[in-house]
Amino acid sequence: MAVRFLYPEFEVVRNQDRCVACRACERQCANEVHRYDPELGCMVADESKCVNCHRCVSLCPTRALKIVKTDHAFRENGNWTGKAITEVYRQAETGGVLLSSMGNPEPYPIYWDKLLINASQVTNPSIDPLREPMETRTFLGKKPGGIQRDAQGRLINNQTPQLELSVPVMFSAMSYGSISYNAHASLARAAQALGTYYNTGEGGLHEDFYQYGPNTIVQVASGRFGVHKDFLEAGAAIEIKMGQGAKPGIGGHLPGQKVGPDISRTRMIPEGSDAISPAPHHDIYSIEDLRQLVFSLKEATEYKKPVIVKIAAVHNVAAIASGVARSGADIIAIDGYRGGTGAAPTRIRDSVGIPIELALAAVDQRLRDEGIRDQVSVVIGGSVRSSADLVKAIALGADAVYIATAALLALGCHLCRTCQTGRCNWGIATQRPDLVRRLNPDLGCQRLVNLVTAWDHELKEMMGGMGINSIEALRGNRLMLRGIGLNQKELDILGVKYAGE
Ligand code: SF4
Ligand code: SF4
Repeated sequence: MAVRFLYPEFEVVRNQDRCVACRACERQCANEVHRYDPELGCMVADESKCVNCHRCVSLCPTRALKIVKTDHAFRENGNWTGKAITEVYRQAETGGVLLSSMGNPEPYPIYWDKLLINASQVTNPSIDPLREPMETRTFLGKKPGGIQRDAQGRLINNQTPQLELSVPVMFSAMSYGSISYNAHASLARAAQALGTYYNTGEGGLHEDFYQYGPNTIVQVASGRFGVHKDFLEAGAAIEIKMGQGAKPGIGGHLPGQKVGPDISRTRMIPEGSDAISPAPHHDIYSIEDLRQLVFSLKEATEYKKPVIVKIAAVHNVAAIASGVARSGADIIAIDGYRGGTGAAPTRIRDSVGIPIELALAAVDQRLRDEGIRDQVSVVIGGSVRSSADLVKAIALGADAVYIATAALLALGCHLCRTCQTGRCNWGIATQRPDLVRRLNPDLGCQRLVNLVTAWDHELKEMMGGMGINSIEALRGNRLMLRGIGLNQKELDILGVKYAGE
């Protein structure tokens, strides 16, 4: 008899008194956990396949199901946790690199939760956002250093192209391939309805989505999948992806089984072939090389579109951002180590990169110290979970944020963290037509619009509470933040005082 080293992580608890054997859970589970056993005359579960995505729990008509974490216990200790032991067993079985998805789940500090927001009291009165105008509109791009006039005294328009956002939240890069057609449709429609932008990621742009071009950021990554002149011209801005928070220093990988006819056409690669984007851009080895690509893209689009350079938050991020600002980029996007992904090696996801809060504060300060802060806008992403995180990000120096995991949660994601399998039961991180159909883009769009609208209301309330009525006045205003539970070094990097000071 074979020895089993791996144990199911979850237990399926079925209340047999409530179960009417309708088999809905069996039909809904792409992981094939549930089945009807005719001999036993009831439903049974193969728990080794369960990823706790809650699809069956959500759709069981009699609320007969719950999924619980198994109480099976390894002989763990402070050093050898159950997770560490399981991962050794898995690698001993397969000989392969461990793969995961979504963001870094390790219990590193979450600095958003150690920052508190100010509120006006007696002096500098607060502003009531219901009665007074609040400006959450934001422009991204290089800001002119001063007013210029021609010989006749007429104003010279020295404004470079800008992105105008009604609310300082954009949907982060997620490629068609890593997420489904209906997920992309939801994001594109929501971006249009909200007056913001969504991002193609590195997978090209499906022909159906060209109509959303004015609300689209098109991405150029190291694999150059789906990049051609029409693609570049379709978007409102072009993003060069140099790095990604979930997997700094490595490229991307879309398995061949996800590359069906539509994805193959959009990415311009053969059907069924793995889409592997290399770790570096093979034409970029210096800031000068990056500058060449920035200006090639500007040239190709007649200098009508801002260029974003996306980097991962890593050591020396401030110096890297300083170089990027000098490359001619209009916007720097920084992705923190909690940023999500469709697939990444577990070790990289969990061990590489730095927290976005520290990276943002360091970058903003460095650009200010060098007197080049107005040459670029700074957008951050990597686990912005709420409007409070958004306010803190802007106060630390961001012009706007990218959200991805929060957007997927709005679409129905239950954070089962198995996007890499392509069997997303919620129709998001999958290309299986039967699963994709589960996500209704009309409903998805509405839920995204609701989420960002709710954040916008809360943003205005918090800004009003601080006596601030524009994003411009909040941006980099670290006096509006106080730290708690932080040491002096952390306070210094964040540039905030301790609560009580
Ligand atoms: S969905 Fe609920 S009621 Fe239907 S078979 Fe599954 S557990 Fe039983
Ligand atoms: S997108 Fe789907 S597969 Fe990925 S974590 Fe969310 S529910 Fe799970």
